[in-house]
Amino acid sequence: DFDHVLEALLNTSVDLDSLEPDSVLEERWIKEVVTRSGMKFRWAKLSETKERPNRDVHRKPPADPSLLAQRPPVVTIMGHVDHGKTTLLDSLRKSQIVSTEAGGITQHIGAFLVQLPTGEKITFLDTPGHAAFSSMRARGANATDIVVLVVAADDGVMNQTVESIQHARRAKVPIIVAVNKCDKPQADPQRVKQELLAHDVVCEEFGGDVQAIHVSALKGDNLLSLAEATVALAEVLELKAEPTGAVEGLIIESRTDKGRGPVTSAIVQRGTLRRGCVLVAGRSWAKVRYLFDENGRAVTEAGPSATVQVVGWKDLPSAGEVLLEVESEQRAREVVEWRTYAEEQEKLQEEQGVIELKQKLHLEEYRKEREGLTHLSWRQRKSALYRANKNKFAARPSERTQSAEPSLPLIIKGDVDGSVEAILNLLESYESQQQCQLEVLHFGIGDVSENDVNVADAFSGSIYGFNVAASRSIQQLAAKRGVPLRLHSIIYKLIDELKEELSSKLPPLR
Ligand code: GDP
Repeated sequence: DFDHVLEALLNTSVDLDSLEPDSVLEERWIKEVVTRSGMKFRWAKLSETKERPNRDVHRKPPADPSLLAQRPPVVTIMGHVDHGKTTLLDSLRKSQIVSTEAGGITQHIGAFLVQLPTGEKITFLDTPGHAAFSSMRARGANATDIVVLVVAADDGVMNQTVESIQHARRAKVPIIVAVNKCDKPQADPQRVKQELLAHDVVCEEFGGDVQAIHVSALKGDNLLSLAEATVALAEVLELKAEPTGAVEGLIIESRTDKGRGPVTSAIVQRGTLRRGCVLVAGRSWAKVRYLFDENGRAVTEAGPSATVQVVGWKDLPSAGEVLLEVESEQRAREVVEWRTYAEEQEKLQEEQGVIELKQKLHLEEYRKEREGLTHLSWRQRKSALYRANKNKFAARPSERTQSAEPSLPLIIKGDVDGSVEAILNLLESYESQQQCQLEVLHFGIGDVSENDVNVADAFSGSIYGFNVAASRSIQQLAAKRGVPLRLHSIIYKLIDELKEELSSKLPPLR
């Protein structure tokens, strides 16, 4: 923001001690510096933006417990690669316990429903692996109630098995172990459970509360037991949701369909989704035109834990985005507008933050230099020099460059105090002999820095270094900005060159 830029500028190019309390740097002057140092865009944007009232929509607080109804658990399958996650999902989908209607063409919509003979339902998210799981979590949107951890009985606990356990634990989601590939002759389920102990996953037979089911995803063995174990755990978890009221959910998949336009799969977490509902997700909104289930059939509604395809989006929202119902299209537009605006602001602030950080670093650098100079006898002289230059600093750069008197803005860097002092002394005497103005923007000890180049660039100045270095990147930067950078190790050569440059700016002798 303004104050930071100002402070940084003051500290890098003007001695604060020499500033009178009434001296105010013109905004236009600073703007020019900001512009020249490549911050133009952000500057303009920041000063033009106006505050807007926040009219966003959020999840509602937990409902009145009396309104809550039991809902099916939502399950994610995780585990090491090749341990059988995909195979397990496939056989769960195809198995007899799935409630697919005969003849229905199962579509991939990001999740599917399994119904037990006893009527209980389970929603399986069908993107296995922890990538999807953590991307949702990163957005603070956890859709999963239970993790089914697949471990191959012939392979045991592997890297990604451990990672999956960690993911589930961080999300505070309980685990059920599916000991897979039990059909294989070399399968050793006992070993799997023992290995899990080392990662604090204690199965029931070791006195813990984690259920472990021996299955064969390939042959479809024992899948019902796995489903029953899931339902049993869900009962313990007392998963409930409000079937009425404004809909809340999560986008689990999104794509553009040739005929239908933007289509998403959404998992309902609260309320009942119906045609005609107005929804907001991220920076997109929808008036629901159609709802389809995983069999591609049009449905009229979807309650808690159900997954449906939603058609009617204006733009494509991203997977992992929270879905919320609002009262009207007008309200939806308002929310989307606000979110778009807020996101832009955030980006701007981030950019500005980077600039401020850079300014601060320069500030630090300069403070260090100043501390190193405090004992010098010519500190007073330095202040005087700046005082003499103060009016020029306060004037607009355009005025300064147009003034009749030629001037040469300078940055002097030296290896030790003495050399810098010697150069300044020489300059001072030269200045009084000639009809010119030397404008020492900044001087100090040490190698030429990026900040020196920035200041020189902002004032169309030159950098003179005595017995100091400038790194390759600094030299390139100076060349790119057209900042003259002159390094010398013999003082009179430096002075000669300086005089020459100055003379070139003097009016021709009459
Ligand atoms: P993912 O990487 O975890 O999704 O693993 P896949 O489901 O792709 O399975 C990897 C390999 O293991 C495939 O060749 C499967 O056929 C095989 N596989 C999966 N489950 C079983 C099983 O229960 N028994 C046997 N014998 N092979 C299996």
